[in-house]
Amino acid sequence: MIDPQALILIQVICIITGTAGLAWGLMAYPLKIAPKASAFYALANFCVVTGIILVTFRGEYSNIVVWNGADLIVLTGFYLLRLATQKLFKLQVTIKTDIVLLAISFVAGLFFPPLESSNYALGIIFSLSAITAFSLLSLDLFHCARKVTSYFGAIFLIFPIASLTCVFIYRAGHLLLNEEGIAPFISVTTHAALPMLWFYMLLALLVNCSMIGCAITYLIFKVRKLADTDPLTELYNRRATLRLINSYTVKHPQDEYGLLLLDLDFFKLINDEFGHDAGDKALLTTANVLKANLAKKDIACRFGGEEFLVFLPNKSQSQTEYFATKLIENLRLAEVKYNSHVFNLTASCGVCHVAVPTTIEQALKQADIAMYRAKASGRNCLCFAKDNHNANISSPLAASSKVD
Ligand code: GH3
Ligand code: MG
Ligand code: MG
Repeated sequence: MIDPQALILIQVICIITGTAGLAWGLMAYPLKIAPKASAFYALANFCVVTGIILVTFRGEYSNIVVWNGADLIVLTGFYLLRLATQKLFKLQVTIKTDIVLLAISFVAGLFFPPLESSNYALGIIFSLSAITAFSLLSLDLFHCARKVTSYFGAIFLIFPIASLTCVFIYRAGHLLLNEEGIAPFISVTTHAALPMLWFYMLLALLVNCSMIGCAITYLIFKVRKLADTDPLTELYNRRATLRLINSYTVKHPQDEYGLLLLDLDFFKLINDEFGHDAGDKALLTTANVLKANLAKKDIACRFGGEEFLVFLPNKSQSQTEYFATKLIENLRLAEVKYNSHVFNLTASCGVCHVAVPTTIEQALKQADIAMYRAKASGRNCLCFAKDNHNANISSPLAASSKVD
C-alpha cells in the first residue's frame, strides 16, 4: 500500500520529469536544437518516469519487472544523461563501458529474489550504480564546461549532478552501515520517504535546469566561436581580433606591443595558375606557420583575403623585429603542397611597434603604410612603420619566380 502523500509526490516527480522529457523532445524535433543530445535527454527523462511508475507497483508478490526491471530502466535513464552530455559537447561516447556497468548492476540484482525482502540489497546495488553514473557524468560535465565557461561557471553547472551523486553516496552509506533508521532510504512509497521524495523532486528540476544550462552555454559558445573565427583558416577574424586587442590595451595601457600586417605576395598568380583551391591551401599553410610560431598570448588573425594580422603583446621593438624576421623566413621555407604541385610563398610585412599609448586604429594604419612600403621595396621583406626604424630581412625576391 502506497502512502497517499508519497503517491502525490511521486506523481509530481513524474509530471516534472515527463514534461522535461517532452520539452527536450520538442528541442530535438521539430526545433532541431542540438537534436541528438536533446533526443537522449528526452529519452533519459522518459526512462526515469517509466522506472518510477514501475516502482509504485512493488508489493508483496515476486515480480522481476517492478524490482530489477524498474531499477534497470531508471539507471539506463541516468546513463542516457551521460550519453546526451557527451553528444552535446562532442565528446567520445562511452556507450560500451556504460552498457557493461549497467549489465553488472543488473546481474548483481539477479542474485536476489525480486521481492520486498530484497529491498535492502537491491537498494545498495541501485545506489552504487547511481553513484557511478552520476560521478562519471559530473566528471564529463566539468571537463566540457571548463572548455566553454569559467571554473566557477563549470562548478555551477555541475552542482545539481554532483548533489545527486552525494545523495546516493549518503543513501548507500546508510544502507551499508546503519540498519536501523534506514526506512526513508529503502523505499520511496512509504511515509518515511517523504523528505527524500521532496529532495528527489527538487533534484529532478535542478538536473533538467542544469542540462538546459549546459545546452545553452554550449550553443552560445558555438555561435560565439563561429562569429569570431575565419572558417577556412580557423584563425580569429578581424572583428574578434580588434576586440581582443582593444580589451588588452585597455587593461594594460602602459604595455608596449608589436603589430604585424602580412600580405602574401602575388597571391593572385597562385589562384590563376593552380586554381582557387590551391590558393585556399596556401592560406591554410600560412595560418599553420603563424600558429606554429606564436606564443600563447600572441594573437593571429586573417585580416581579410590574403592579409594576416599578428598582435604581439608585451614585446620590445627588438623582440618584435626578431619575431617578424623569423616569421617571414619560416613562411618562405614552408612548402604548399596541392595535388602534384609544390610551391613556396612569400609575404610583405608592415611592422608597427607601439611603445606609447596610441589607438589600435592608428597603429594599424601605420602597419598598413609600412606593409605597402615593403611591397614597393620589392616584396618578401619587412618594413617598420615611420616612427620605428626600417629593416629589410633579405634581398627582395619576386614571389612569382618561386611558384614552381
Ligand atoms: P600583391 O603582391 O601586390 O599583394 O599581389 P596579390 O596578387 O597578392 O594581390 P591582389 O590584391 O591583386 O590579389 C589578392 C587575391 O587574393 C585576389 C583574390 O582573388 C584572392 N583571394 C582573396 N581571398 C581568397 C580566398 O579566400 N581564397 C583564395 N583562393 N583566394 C582569395
Ligand atoms: Mg592584399
Ligand atoms: Mg597580396
